Amino acid sequence: MPNSSDTLSSPAGWRLDHSYARLPQSFHMRINPTPVSEPKMVVLNRPLAEALGLNTDDLNDAAIFAGNALPPGAEPLAQAYAGHQYVHFTMLGDGRAILLGEQMTPSGARFDIQLKGPGPTPFSRRGDGRAALGPMLREYIISEAMHALGIPTTRSLAVVSTGEKVWRQDGGLPGAVLTRVAASHIRVGTFEYAAARGEKDALQALADHTRQRHYPELEGDYAAFFEAVMERQATLIAQWMHVGFIHGVMNTDNMALSGETIDYGPCAFMDAYDPATVFSSIDRNGRYAYGNQPHIAQWNLARLAEAMLPLFHDDEKQAIEIANEAIGSFEARFKRHWLAGMRAKLGLFTAESDDTALIQSLLEWMQETKADFTNTFRDLTNGRLEPLEWHQRWSERLKRQPQSASDVTDLMRRHNPAFIPRNHKVEEALAAASEHGDLNPMQRLLTVLADPYDHTQDLPEFSEPADSTGYQTFCGT
Ligand code: AMP
Ligand code: MG
Repeated sequence: MPNSSDTLSSPAGWRLDHSYARLPQSFHMRINPTPVSEPKMVVLNRPLAEALGLNTDDLNDAAIFAGNALPPGAEPLAQAYAGHQYVHFTMLGDGRAILLGEQMTPSGARFDIQLKGPGPTPFSRRGDGRAALGPMLREYIISEAMHALGIPTTRSLAVVSTGEKVWRQDGGLPGAVLTRVAASHIRVGTFEYAAARGEKDALQALADHTRQRHYPELEGDYAAFFEAVMERQATLIAQWMHVGFIHGVMNTDNMALSGETIDYGPCAFMDAYDPATVFSSIDRNGRYAYGNQPHIAQWNLARLAEAMLPLFHDDEKQAIEIANEAIGSFEARFKRHWLAGMRAKLGLFTAESDDTALIQSLLEWMQETKADFTNTFRDLTNGRLEPLEWHQRWSERLKRQPQSASDVTDLMRRHNPAFIPRNHKVEEALAAASEHGDLNPMQRLLTVLADPYDHTQDLPEFSEPADSTGYQTFCGT
């Protein structure tokens, strides 16, 4: 990484560097945010601000998080990228996001600071470059919940309302800008963009930049780099599966090379266990259904491998062989992470060959009885699930490991959340905030979600599912 000691530092603690901007110019376009009429802070993430080295006393500045003023050292730009949206390939680019720069934290880490909804960019096409308050608060709530669950994710630093309306199908909605913090915003679609332009030098520069930034310890060739990216995705998707998270729109432009969950649009958590669960209003064929996520991750990684072919080998046939061999290992990688996490959810420290069958039979029972995914594991953890025939098998299995009952409970408590963002609680918080300006339900929800593995609190209001049959989520554009 280029030396950042010469980056500006300000009283508020901004230290912005611009390593992405040093990539070949086809990857970015300089563009300033468009000021809004009446910026007002809706929510500021103080712990995150502090972790970034920002001084919250000097920071409570809605103007910066609205794009009306720039933090010192900012060099705003919109990122170019392409993507497979469902199966259709498109050149996209950030149509409603502007990168201000990369904050260098006191511990030497580097995080993109990006405004989402700051007005049009050269990639906006017919869009307004704006965002509505509801979807931005939704991203804030769910991304912070994912972080607290221990799942790699982009985070949310602030949401400001703009005092302006955004016009969507359902009329005028209050506008907002979200400040998103990410290890980077480099996507599978960024590689597809470089590949589609046929510029091998740019592609290689992007690969080198990404590797240095996210896999600095990695040795080996570009195939080794690709495998490392794949390994991180395998872990990430396994973690989603373990908590019942459904991303909802796993297009290749929404898959980050850092291995972080990115782009919270129509995402939601599953209540009753069913692999076919879909919430997104536009996902008519269930392409992005809960149970299909590992398969889609592999599909997306195949698009990444295709884009990287020129880096694997000069001879295309050999490059394809390298790619195929790598891609072929995804399923086994995913299963390994999935099984490890499922074992932990059941309090298993050791590995036995029948464990998959044991887990599957519980899942089958859950699907047949439409059992709530989170609460089934929560009740198993706390000995509150009415004993099933399956319990016999499980308790025999537990007896074949040396750990004590309290070790088992500890392990299960760390892997089975008591609280997830329940769909009706999220909707309730968003409605209160965006229709009545009442932020209390959201603050209360954020407090509960900040400690998802706290099994000592009994808060049925937050842990009970509402009937989510027919629940629909939207892309929020
Ligand atoms: P998303 O669904 O947020 O992943 O967005 C998909 C693509 O559409 C991205 O290239 C976005 O930048 C673009 N886009 C989404 N909403 C808007 C908007 N309101 N104005 C302009 N472009 C948008
Ligand atoms: Mg996106």
